[in-house]
Amino acid sequence: MRALFFFLILAFAWPLRAAGPILVDTEVTGLSVLWKDGVVRVNLESGAGGTLGSLSNDEAVALVRGFFEDWSATGIDGLATAAVVFQEGAPLGSVDGSNLDDHFTYCPPGKSCPAEDPPFVSGSARTGQSPILFDDDGSITDAIQGKGASLSILGFAGPRVVEREDGVLYITEGQAVLNGKFINGVSEPADPEVPVEEFSGAIFHELGHLIGLDHTQVNLGSVVKHLKGDASEAEAIPTMFPLFIDGAAQLTPHYDDQVAISSLYPSPAFGSNFCRIEGTAFRADGATELQGVNVIAANGSDPLAESTSFVSGSFFTGAFPDCDAPAGEFVIAGLKPDVSYTLQFEPISQAFTGGSSVEPCDPPQKDFEAEVLPGVFRCSSKGETITVGSEATTDVVTTKAVAVAPPPPPPPSEGSGGCSLVISDFAP
Ligand SMILES: [Zn+2]
Repeated sequence: MRALFFFLILAFAWPLRAAGPILVDTEVTGLSVLWKDGVVRVNLESGAGGTLGSLSNDEAVALVRGFFEDWSATGIDGLATAAVVFQEGAPLGSVDGSNLDDHFTYCPPGKSCPAEDPPFVSGSARTGQSPILFDDDGSITDAIQGKGASLSILGFAGPRVVEREDGVLYITEGQAVLNGKFINGVSEPADPEVPVEEFSGAIFHELGHLIGLDHTQVNLGSVVKHLKGDASEAEAIPTMFPLFIDGAAQLTPHYDDQVAISSLYPSPAFGSNFCRIEGTAFRADGATELQGVNVIAANGSDPLAESTSFVSGSFFTGAFPDCDAPAGEFVIAGLKPDVSYTLQFEPISQAFTGGSSVEPCDPPQKDFEAEVLPGVFRCSSKGETITVGSEATTDVVTTKAVAVAPPPPPPPSEGSGGCSLVISDFAP
């Protein structure tokens, strides 16, 4: 039995629902909510008090800057595929319990907070800044996530303010906390420790959330192996896997991570050099669209290294709290011409809920079997979109029974939820 360390993403008020991207405009457009023009603006904690465990402020800042550069430099097959740049604004000075509320927007544990009017995600402390806080000893993590949370949570991050401009919803502020208690040089039950190289994978993951990336379940089987002590497939574990499994491996973006950021912020080279496949996931009747199906395209000759996924029905509008939006579309981009891919689908693990969820459904869609569709598909020219014609069907028909009753009407809008804090055994 082992405890696992969780990454958390921040939870948001309806009507914003996370999806392949961490946020989708479910109110109006059904599109990903992104930083405008791919410009991610951040403000880092600074000063002598801004240490991160055993790291000085300068060292922590250098790590963060370096990992932002790594995300920005995402490339596939030698082509720059993501158009993301970072702009660092004024440093924050030192942040601790005494001035945390000036910088971080949250609903304290055990308190009930009023829902904010959209487009504010939570809280009303719009500051014009996007703080990245270095929690030196876990006290900030405990203050935000609850007492003792700092023993299991390495960090948490996400957008916090979104604003509509010319009809399009953009992220205008984000926030992140990195929990330095894990790298303070003390290793005991009340103060767990991981090597800085491992913790770096957690930083890289959280910065992915700030950019707008959601979690992914690609290569769940490799994770299960790893948890059983077989690390032979560690490199197959994506950065944005919901759990901290192997920090060093997760510090290296997987193909799925590369495709994810490139799909959100595509460079011209991404659109013109790679293919995509589009299809729809259905219930067993082959006619009723099904949301929340993890659809995976995997290179037939190297499936662990080159697999990428998309959860059906991620782009939708309306309020469907039970994963029953009539939306089953999926689109998988970043596919290489003349490479044969299999198309697979599977349920998202029921273990992934709350702050570890893979959207658009929390809890995940269930009651259907995983399957590898017969045949393979491939595109023959760059920029192609596959919808029909290859051997593998582009439609996914699951074994999930057809609903016998129409879904109940959506409930009124909810207030902001909280991240669920989980320290438990992972049972995929
Ligand atoms: Zn995460």
